[in-house]
Amino acid sequence: MFSKILIANRGEVAVRIIRACKEMGIETVAVYSEADENSLPVALADERICVGGNAATDSYLNQRNIISAALASNAEAIHPGYGFLSENPDFAALCEEKGIIFIGPDSNVLRTMGDKDHSRQLMKEIGVPVVPGTEILHDVQEAKRLAAEIGYPILVKATAGGGGKGIRVVEREEDLEDAFLSASREAENAFGNGDVFLEKYLTSVRHVEMQVLADAFGHIVCLGERDCSLQLNKQKVLEETPCPIMTEEIREKMMAAAVKAAKAANYVNAGTVEFLLAPSGEFYFIEMNTRLQVEHPITEEISDIDIVKWQIRIACQIPLDFTQEDIHLHGHAMECRINARSTGTLDFLHVPGGSRVHFDTALVQDGLIAPYYDSMIGKLIVYAANREDAIRKMDVALCEMVIHGIDTNIEDQLRLLRSENFKKGKYHTLSLPGILTEGGSELE
Ligand code: ADP
Ligand code: ADP
Ligand code: MG
Repeated sequence: MFSKILIANRGEVAVRIIRACKEMGIETVAVYSEADENSLPVALADERICVGGNAATDSYLNQRNIISAALASNAEAIHPGYGFLSENPDFAALCEEKGIIFIGPDSNVLRTMGDKDHSRQLMKEIGVPVVPGTEILHDVQEAKRLAAEIGYPILVKATAGGGGKGIRVVEREEDLEDAFLSASREAENAFGNGDVFLEKYLTSVRHVEMQVLADAFGHIVCLGERDCSLQLNKQKVLEETPCPIMTEEIREKMMAAAVKAAKAANYVNAGTVEFLLAPSGEFYFIEMNTRLQVEHPITEEISDIDIVKWQIRIACQIPLDFTQEDIHLHGHAMECRINARSTGTLDFLHVPGGSRVHFDTALVQDGLIAPYYDSMIGKLIVYAANREDAIRKMDVALCEMVIHGIDTNIEDQLRLLRSENFKKGKYHTLSLPGILTEGGSELE
């Protein structure tokens, strides 16, 4: 096993990884930006190294400084968390070159599966259904011609996109040119690659994703699904597992498709295969996330498998010690992402507790919420024997949480939880904005 791991991330996920390392007897090195000097992961880690200024490009995306920190501290491996460098093939290649183990798939896999056009082609070759669409477009004229064939509404999607960036919905041909150019520009700025393609825009679909774990010896298991349909601006807000409308038949097919996808990609480590599930029961691959997912804890709750620890073991060439038959998914788990809606100092913080309620966060009393990074400040996770009990538990936990000094989305999460459609499990990827406005009166 590794004796020391550097965590190239911040916030709740850095804390999550440090805890896993400690439980495994592995020493940890935190890297941080100036703004994060007094943060929880920096305090919890065995060693700490400042890698730059507040802008992510100066610190958490500063590949040279992070590699230097790993070499200086004799860390054998780097865990990239999610976001930042986690899906960056150049960074993984740099680690490989410097003899440091990147905890994730190798740089070639990151390159193929991180590119939506590539991964779509690969899925087509192996017979996993993809959303009808095109390959990378050469120009707006080609886009117009192909969009007319597919039919509106369509999506312009950046092949390098992530985190909801580089996606535009187009209802009519006259809006296509602007969408094409702005999606391309956004992706060029965010990911250094402005290539875009078209996908049919599916409505009334659910976002259902499958968690896989693949070791270095060709064993692949699937830990079931997560329903992440409740989104604002293409970003997930509340996730649950199992998916409320899943049937055994669809689950079996979707799990098989996810395992097939991982196998075809020569995938090693933890990964997530995302699908859109139509009311007919048909489902379509949209992308593979080649990293730890924000919502991984709900899968851990229902599978009793620690995904982060397995990421570390897999990177250390340890084979999975269980097979698909050993996995017994049970109960119901839910995660509410708690987002900051302002910056400020946390002058009072109370975190809910209770059996199978936990709050993954790096928040501390008197801590500062700075504007430089993602607005997600924590994840409230509950587990119960069934969905109804999980909803009640989440409601109690959300009511108990007190965060003073900044604005948050806690009230919105309660509104969602108490809405009739959510309680019935009736929702799709476009439901949340409506639920939040309609649900308004229920809380008053
Ligand atoms: P998940 O499916 O795990 O929720 P998200 O797409 O919401 O994944 O992204 C998780 C985190 O990573 C978010 O903080 C998001 O801003 C960030 N992120 C996602 N993709 C990228 C990317 N390509 N580059 C930088 N950050 C990203
Ligand atoms: P990202 O890399 O930013 O996560 P995705 O391709 O996973 O991008 O899409 C993000 C979200 O956008 C999905 O979860 C889904 O809600 C919506 N979406 C993506 N593709 C389609 C599509 N073809 N039709 C309808 N909605 C889509
Ligand atoms: Mg996605």
